[in-house]
Amino acid sequence: MTTLFELPKLKFAFDALEPAIDARTMEIHHDKHHGAYVNNLNKALESAPEFYGQPIEQVLRDINKVPESIRTAVRNNGGGHANHSLFWELLVPGGAKTPASALLTDIEKTFGSYDAFTEKFSAAAASRFGSGWAWLVLDGDKKLQVYSTANQDSPYMDRHTPLLGLDVWEHAYYLTYQNRRPDYIKAFWSLVNWDVVSDLYKSNR
Ligand code: MN
Repeated sequence: MTTLFELPKLKFAFDALEPAIDARTMEIHHDKHHGAYVNNLNKALESAPEFYGQPIEQVLRDINKVPESIRTAVRNNGGGHANHSLFWELLVPGGAKTPASALLTDIEKTFGSYDAFTEKFSAAAASRFGSGWAWLVLDGDKKLQVYSTANQDSPYMDRHTPLLGLDVWEHAYYLTYQNRRPDYIKAFWSLVNWDVVSDLYKSNR
């Protein structure tokens, strides 16, 4: 039996993140944008159905094993599926908590302070030209890194594990913020579910 990739359900209502992220943006972003990545991923893999049963993270880690004729489609749509599936988990109504102690200690050791980390992450998000994502990851040496990627490129393709990600495609913020990406980035910090980020850190460290 073929197990197609599926659009995960949101664990909160479309309007739960207002005013930071408006309901219409959440509905279009989840149902239409993420939905399209899932559909296009499934379509691309029709010629290589052996990938259907694999976790998307594994497909991306081994992206070079995907046949060249569909590799770009899998990179874009598989990356989009993985990135958004994580993103929805990272957002929580009313957020504004801080990392658990082990992660906080590592953040302070790596970036100097929690504030220095959020500044670096925000700068990565603000300076990504065009569409992409900002990330906090664990790299291959289990060290924390902050950087951004273009389009739907995933840290998994570099064998890194994403812990925190911010979508800076215009579709993520345009209805409320138009060209004011820095305001969207600032609002994002009030939504971060640090419990999820801290758990990801603990289970991958
Ligand atoms: Mn998006």
